[in-house]
Amino acid sequence: MTSTSDRLRTAGLRVTGPRVAVLEVLDSAGGSQHLTAADVLAGVRGRLGAVSVQATYDCLEALEGASLVRRIQPAGSPARFESRVGDNHHHAVCRACGRTTDVECVHGASPCLTPSSADGFRIDEAEVIFWGLCPDCT
Ligand SMILES: [Zn+2]
Ligand SMILES: [Zn+2]
Repeated sequence: MTSTSDRLRTAGLRVTGPRVAVLEVLDSAGGSQHLTAADVLAGVRGRLGAVSVQATYDCLEALEGASLVRRIQPAGSPARFESRVGDNHHHAVCRACGRTTDVECVHGASPCLTPSSADGFRIDEAEVIFWGLCPDCT
């Protein structure tokens, strides 16, 4: 298993305490948890003590830019972050509480997943969010 510092280096980022902490917080949250920036901040502070909001946001931005972190931005809820990247999985979001869970890549015949015309764009990703109610809110 590659260390957190190695992942940063491989992505061309300088290894800093806050960046390592942000990645570790997201890693330890696991696949079914998608953390808000506030959750990440709380986790980072739990590890490092005093870290500013801005520093944490800057880390998230740098990590996202280096494709080590993925941001999910469901309409009407705060952005959520995860460190599960590169597999183009999808998300289901609860309309009531905002809980966000991973949905494996959708295969099959849903016609909307294959654009009939993309106006000349070369498509490499489809961002799919399924909306509904989580088990707790049903
Ligand atoms: Zn819910
Ligand atoms: Zn996810």
